[in-house]
Amino acid sequence: MRLHLRRTIQNGEPVRLTGSVPIERSIEGRTDVISASPLEADLTAAPSLDGTVEVRGTLSGHLDMVCSRCLEPAHVELRIPFEERFKQREEGEEELEDDEDMLLVTEDTFELSPYLEEHVTLGVPNAPLCKEDCKGLCQTCGTNLNETACGCDNTVIDPRLAGLKDFFK
Ligand SMILES: [Zn+2]
Ligand SMILES: [Zn+2]
Repeated sequence: MRLHLRRTIQNGEPVRLTGSVPIERSIEGRTDVISASPLEADLTAAPSLDGTVEVRGTLSGHLDMVCSRCLEPAHVELRIPFEERFKQREEGEEELEDDEDMLLVTEDTFELSPYLEEHVTLGVPNAPLCKEDCKGLCQTCGTNLNETACGCDNTVIDPRLAGLKDFFK
């Protein structure tokens, strides 16, 4: 998905950008992803009078992951907001540092995908859940506590007090 930065600024009109965002790089090395498909980007590039273009919208899709608590499949809906401002660096213009909220681009048109992929990487949950209140697995017997209760005593004891527990035996 390319952004025609110069043309957008010259036209002075917002442009709608849609397309798919590859997800491969964003899930590279992750063992908790079962399957993934590209995300859909729905963005608007709006030029402003100061020569910047603000791109904002949503990247949406879904992932099949492994629940971090019970290890069952977890269907994860992704709706990742995207918002960045781009400015074209004029030739001969002083080398400006990338502003915290503005990205400088040298070309008239450039590929947006790397910026989109970066947001996708941040939007993939670190600890996906099959459902918000997933009870997880029993630490003692491994039973999936969403399905059955096992009756194990999993009272968490502060390691500093563990000695005391033995004392009372
Ligand atoms: Zn779960
Ligand atoms: Zn148990």
